[in-house]
Amino acid sequence: MSTTRSDERGNGHGALVPLDEARAFVVDRCAPLAARDVPVGEASGLVLAVAVVADQDVPPFANSAMDGYAVRAAETAGAPCRLVERGALMAGDAPTIAVGAGEAVRIMTGAPLPPGADAVCKVEETVRGEDGTVVIERPVSAGENVRAAGDDVAAGSEVFVPGTTLTPAAIGVVASLGVDTVRVRPRPRVAVVATGDELVTGPGPLAPGKIRDANRPALLARLVVDGFDAVDLGQVGDEPQALAAVLERAGGLADAVVATGGVSVGDRDVVKAVLSERCHDMRWMQVAIKPAKPFAFGTLATTGVPVFGLPGNPVSALVSYELFARPGLRRLAGSATTDRPRLAATAEAPLARRTDGKLHLLRVVARARADGTLGVRPAGGQGSHQLRAMAAANALAIVPDGDGVPEGGAVEVVVLDPFGPVADDRAWPS
Ligand code: AMP
Ligand code: MG
Repeated sequence: MSTTRSDERGNGHGALVPLDEARAFVVDRCAPLAARDVPVGEASGLVLAVAVVADQDVPPFANSAMDGYAVRAAETAGAPCRLVERGALMAGDAPTIAVGAGEAVRIMTGAPLPPGADAVCKVEETVRGEDGTVVIERPVSAGENVRAAGDDVAAGSEVFVPGTTLTPAAIGVVASLGVDTVRVRPRPRVAVVATGDELVTGPGPLAPGKIRDANRPALLARLVVDGFDAVDLGQVGDEPQALAAVLERAGGLADAVVATGGVSVGDRDVVKAVLSERCHDMRWMQVAIKPAKPFAFGTLATTGVPVFGLPGNPVSALVSYELFARPGLRRLAGSATTDRPRLAATAEAPLARRTDGKLHLLRVVARARADGTLGVRPAGGQGSHQLRAMAAANALAIVPDGDGVPEGGAVEVVVLDPFGPVADDRAWPS
């Protein structure tokens, strides 16, 4: 159909750019920020710039995994058997007692395995006598209930490669090695500016033609959820000088700028105009996706700060952020992985669309079904202005060009919500 064809050509403004090409353009121009040393206590969520190599074993010595008795395993082969109790070792004690023939040492979890012992019988399988002896009720094999030195981390091993995000568990591993500072990339500071003469912030009656700014608060919130430092640059009207001044100011405050509005094909597309003037590499694209077709990106010639020009429609702004800005910012952060995983799901209701040469990203509710697989259904209206449906969604369904996915059909999703898919009330396995 002729209407579809003109759409395919980007409304006569050049061919649509494939999503992958647009993303590669952005990510290639976002270099990791300069590394610095940061105390481990302040490094949660940051990305390692150099590998962490263990210079010691964790655990540092063989120790008991149970409260019980340290024994010579071979002596328990004929259990039940009676051994002489030769004192006790608590977590934190030095292994000052040894286990000799016919002996056992009472031992608590984490206490060092005494010399002579090679296994631990758990206390539940022993009977302590009044006469200084203990009956071992079940044979144990050598190494049983013993955590060997280096069983978690062996000295000399590369524990984390560069590009690893320091999760809470990773912070714990690093701390267990006695490391107190890590070489990481700083958390990117990302400034947000909303453009548009129509924008107003806060309560009070709206003058005719005005709307309230939804994008700036939404993007500031999104950045924080995604682990970036967000800087609010406010809003500017559709006025090139004002926007240029804000972008230059951002160079001193932030590592990247996210702007919304003004990248379309209208008469007042100020972001497009200012970026083309101030960036050597500015590219304005009509990307083969829906929503979020228009997108602009460039790095400011003065400061080298990358600027993401997202569309103004609120759903488009958040989807464009997800597809272009977030991967670029993850790259600035030094992360080896820039994208969220794409998960296989089943459509529980039709995911309707028309053929238009574009990849569609539908706002959906993803839930874990009784069999543990993901089911998805539309979260509401799919207009690019319908932010409420996006608020009801926890995922984007990736629907390739064509006539959609029927009920029961397979579809890929990207989960956006930090709390993940809605879960069925399934009991945990016992
Ligand atoms: P634009 O991309 O500037 O052409 O804007 C596209 C549509 O998004 C228009 O209807 C704008 O009024 C709307 N819009 C632009 N910026 C915002 C914003 N910050 N919050 C809510 N809506 C916006
Ligand atoms: Mg505008």
